[in-house]
Amino acid sequence: MIIVPEREIANLMTREAAFVAVEQVFAAMAAQDAYNFPVIREAIGHEDALYGFKGGFDRAGKTLGLKAGGYWPNNLDKHQIINHQSTVFLFDPDTGKAKAMVGGNLLTALRTAAASSVSIKHLARKDARVIGMIGAGHQATFQLRAALEQRQFEKVIGWNFHPEMLPNLEKVADEAGLPFQAVDLNGLRDADVLISITSSFEAILQADQVSPGTHIACMGTDTKGKQEVDPALLTRATVFSDEVAQSISIGEAQHAIAMELITEHDITQIGAVINGTHPGRTSDDQITLFDGTGVGLQDLAVAASVVDLAVANGVAIEVDF
Ligand code: NAD
Repeated sequence: MIIVPEREIANLMTREAAFVAVEQVFAAMAAQDAYNFPVIREAIGHEDALYGFKGGFDRAGKTLGLKAGGYWPNNLDKHQIINHQSTVFLFDPDTGKAKAMVGGNLLTALRTAAASSVSIKHLARKDARVIGMIGAGHQATFQLRAALEQRQFEKVIGWNFHPEMLPNLEKVADEAGLPFQAVDLNGLRDADVLISITSSFEAILQADQVSPGTHIACMGTDTKGKQEVDPALLTRATVFSDEVAQSISIGEAQHAIAMELITEHDITQIGAVINGTHPGRTSDDQITLFDGTGVGLQDLAVAASVVDLAVANGVAIEVDF
């Protein structure tokens, strides 16, 4: 069995490798070569922790396994380690034998950033020049950095519930040599591409605050009850997701579905666009919305990729198991 510890991930995994892994697995899901197992998430009644498993099988990529982990809110104060903790376990699909154990913390951030980037590649207008961010926390910086690689962006604009966090976005824009402007929610109408990545439980962005032709990736809503945008936006937009089942239950679409504004048949798996079986964006004034809920197969795909990189670079730890 191969072990790739968390400390090695930053040296091995690149945004490009994460992008390729996630794009391939989204394509495999739409081709029905890969599927996610039902998600388990439990409040374990200890340390206020939420613990769970996300798993799946990708027949095309021969990747079988799960990500185990969750959220320990007291970690930082009590143990000086981050509150989100996860580990990916991979198994040989031919034998069931354990194949690899991989640190999952940085990989989660990279695979989430790759998902909105894949959506921008396939759904945003080619002439998109202004990118708008809603959210300025840990994950927002990953989303922005990866997104900037997808189009010739000339400006970053951003809004956050806690404005004092906006310098996090400005720093990423600076690194890319782009100007940053803090805006109010109406100011987000200037964006050609929007990414929302907050832990909000109510709609932040209203349907009329999005201009025709915009692509929006809604990435923060990954649990029942969370919400980032006005459900009416999903009726104005053509809606795509990583996985329809998650989108309607724990994703941004859960609210428009509950209000009967759309049905699950109005949502297309992004993999269908990647595979060319769905046209994706068909006009310059269409709004496209990607509901990125985060699927287990994304975690397995980036973990498998980093195992290959660890072996190639001679840093994989091999143990008899
Ligand atoms: P973080 O704690 O670093 O940042 C939280 C962000 O949400 C900040 O911008 C904060 O200002 C904002 N926020 C907090 N309370 C708010 C409120 N009441 N209204 C509006 N905004 C509010 O967290 P993070 O690591 O950046 O994660 C952000 C979100 O992304 C979380 O909800 C997390 O669960 C989700 N997430 C999704 C995926 C996925 O695959 N879709 C993966 C990882 C994280």
